[in-house]
Amino acid sequence: MPAKSDPLAQYRRKRDFKRTPEPAGERRKASRFPRFVVQKHAATRLHYDFRLEVGGVLKSWAVPKGPSLDPKARRLAIPTEDHPMEYAGFEGFIPLGEYGGGAVIVWDRGFYVNVTQKNSKPLPMEAALRRGHAKFWLEGEKLKGGFTLTRMGRAGGKLSWILVKLSDPLAGSQRDLVAKKPRSVLSGRTIEAVSKERVKAIKKN
Ligand code: MN
Repeated sequence: MPAKSDPLAQYRRKRDFKRTPEPAGERRKASRFPRFVVQKHAATRLHYDFRLEVGGVLKSWAVPKGPSLDPKARRLAIPTEDHPMEYAGFEGFIPLGEYGGGAVIVWDRGFYVNVTQKNSKPLPMEAALRRGHAKFWLEGEKLKGGFTLTRMGRAGGKLSWILVKLSDPLAGSQRDLVAKKPRSVLSGRTIEAVSKERVKAIKKN
């Protein structure tokens, strides 16, 4: 596939798969029930990677403060390169010095339903993101209910989006969700535990 039409070309270019435990992956067929994942990532700066399955890859945004269930909280979301579907199960430690070096945990995951409309008609997710506004329902273990992602423009040279919880019955129940529920939904580990395990493994060798 020519690099231009391969949505994962940028993802692969940034990584050396002999060094990082991250998956190389391929673009998948679109699924009937698209997934989402939020990874907590202790890179140079701690952030949360918010990823939505769109067209067989994970469309990705880095959310410095992490998602919130409070509709008044407008969370900055900086778009990053598409990731392969396999990334939704990735938890571990990217060696320091490699791209994104640091611990990663799967903070939340589940399925989502696109509910974006244009002129009262459903708008596919690809088109919604191209237009810069998507509305979707999350069915995660921590994140539930309606959210929107909206493109805001450039701030400091970087394209910025805003992730906002919709006012529905599932809003506002856990105001400080990222602090109250810090653990991995895959392993129950904290991001600090993943970092400590790495240090122990290095000391053994
Ligand atoms: Mn990240």
